[in-house]
Amino acid sequence: GPRVGVLALQGDVREHARVLTDLGAEVVLVRRPEELASVAGLVLPGGESSVIDKLSRAFGLQQPLRDAIAAGLPVYGTCAGLILLAERITDGIAGQQTLGGLDVTVQRNAFGSQVDSFEADLDVPAFGDPAVHAVFIRAPLVTRVGTGVEVLAALEDDRIVAVQQGNLLGTAFHPEVAGETRFHRRFLDLVRAA
Ligand code: GLN
Repeated sequence: GPRVGVLALQGDVREHARVLTDLGAEVVLVRRPEELASVAGLVLPGGESSVIDKLSRAFGLQQPLRDAIAAGLPVYGTCAGLILLAERITDGIAGQQTLGGLDVTVQRNAFGSQVDSFEADLDVPAFGDPAVHAVFIRAPLVTRVGTGVEVLAALEDDRIVAVQQGNLLGTAFHPEVAGETRFHRRFLDLVRAA
């Protein structure tokens, strides 16, 4: 299968690596620019986006990641990973940066402290049946989308929780903890087509 990376600075790296391995991919844990250069696609895991941001700069990965995204590398970000892909964020910590690439505004920790975590069954027209069982953990929300962005899924109140723009895919929730493989399959399709 294709050789793909999981950014392994912080977060739920193992869960993504397991799903991708089960789908037949060869998985590289990416912590250094040389490792990034060796993969045909990359997953940005869930975790804490401000920590992953700081570590990406400390490890000299921020610019290589931005260059790879600009060059068209397929990237799938879940939760914190979606925050990292956003061109604009709100409610970040002071000085928090993103990699960018997705023409969206993402609100960090959008669901507040009383509902830090919840689950929902999402209709994803691109996938058909069954619904996606989505696990949200201190999740962000896509509050604005640019014209080139496809909305893949929204909550019943129309709040946007999954988007795609070209080779960039982002979900506010965590398919990798719910046995949901269709987003990872879609990501691997992008990798094979790139
Ligand atoms: N709240 C986290 C952040 O701001 C995201 C949570 C998650 O990835 N599950 O990065």
